[in-house]
Amino acid sequence: MKTQTKSQAAFVQAKRAIPGGVNSPVRAYGSVDGDPPFIERGEGAYIYDIDGNEYIDYVLSWGPMILGHAHPAVVEAVKVAADKGTSFGAPTEAETELAQLVKLKMPHIEKLRLVNSGTEAVMTAARIVRGYTGREIIVKFDGCYHGHSDGFLVAAGSGLATGGLPASAGVPGSITENTLSLPYNNIDMVEDFFRRKGDQIAGVIVEPIAANMGVVLPHDGFLEGLREITRKHSALLVFDEVITGFRVARGGASQYLDVIPDLVCLGKIIGGGLPIGAVGGRKDVMEKLAPLGEVYQAGTLSGNPISVAAGIATLRELEEEGFYDTIRRNTERLAESLLEVFTSADMEVQINTAPGLLTVFFSQTVVTDFLSAKDCNDSAFRKFFQGMLTRGIYLPPSPYEAWFFSIQHNDTMIKRTMEAVTEAIDELKL
Ligand SMILES: *Cc1c(COP(=O)(O)O)cnc(C)c1O
Repeated sequence: MKTQTKSQAAFVQAKRAIPGGVNSPVRAYGSVDGDPPFIERGEGAYIYDIDGNEYIDYVLSWGPMILGHAHPAVVEAVKVAADKGTSFGAPTEAETELAQLVKLKMPHIEKLRLVNSGTEAVMTAARIVRGYTGREIIVKFDGCYHGHSDGFLVAAGSGLATGGLPASAGVPGSITENTLSLPYNNIDMVEDFFRRKGDQIAGVIVEPIAANMGVVLPHDGFLEGLREITRKHSALLVFDEVITGFRVARGGASQYLDVIPDLVCLGKIIGGGLPIGAVGGRKDVMEKLAPLGEVYQAGTLSGNPISVAAGIATLRELEEEGFYDTIRRNTERLAESLLEVFTSADMEVQINTAPGLLTVFFSQTVVTDFLSAKDCNDSAFRKFFQGMLTRGIYLPPSPYEAWFFSIQHNDTMIKRTMEAVTEAIDELKL
């Protein structure tokens, strides 16, 4: 009989107290079999579970930890902030400092409101967009994930793609009937819908580089087309940069791809691993928010001093010379090695990348939207995932998620990762 690991025992206990044993569904390993390791601590690009196993971490808390775990500057900033008190519900100077830092990196953001999560950021953006235009319909794209608020649980990616759920129970149809989901990368369908309903559409929200159905890049002209069509119909364009912001480039995907939206949703990296989100953009649009305008939004813990301190410390580190070159080079290096090894093993895979993001799709067809993303071999992924985990490589436990890079990932780790890949592929062929 196999002895139970500490993680397995912990999972049994967790399941008695917490639905599914986890506080966010994808952590439960539902689509990869096996039980999740319980994490004790992290350092740089490594995490350690309660059984003492070491892993190279390509999940990085699903994106926020671009500096790696327990970065000294972030830890210090958090300690200093905590010493002064953890929440006041009154303005602090640090909130302005964080907003100014964001504005410097993303000049199209004129004003910024801090919230507590990416979900809240998108929820708020939707309300602003509707309040500003006086219209109700919001267009999103299949496989894009915009958090778990009611209005966006329509053909959403991330954990919903993993579970194969079209949406969610508990969401009234009356709420989602104003969200229309169209195929990613299909500008003709957007154009057609605007032709029919243009005067009722408040805005379009998109992941400018999709990363919640696995990484899917926008075709040339897709984002430019969205920009043009929304402008023509006086609707607003919202980029959900909760993952891509401060990751694919200092100024996020809008800088990287040179398309400027009206509003941007931020999260993950902006809090350096503490709970936060933000929505920002055009001054005239942002000023619709209370107390200046009639769009209500509030939060007891919004602009929380500890989250803000971690965010400031993180954003400052991104200024380091060559930061994004390193991230991009490492992503490309791993992608090239992966392609080489899979190809020489006669396994056809699709590898989509953006700087700091990578997905290996176990598929023979090019992945350009949700439909093609879902057309992959889940059981091959499952085996590959387990083979990697056993060898100390911590990948996202789903075929529809991105692998994340931190600045701490280096050549040695990439080499170790590739050794594991080679062995895991050998097992796949058995
Ligand atoms: C993670 C994510 C969200 C939701 O953010 P939470 O902080 O988990 O609420 C929204 N949009 C995108 C693109 C995300 O990746």
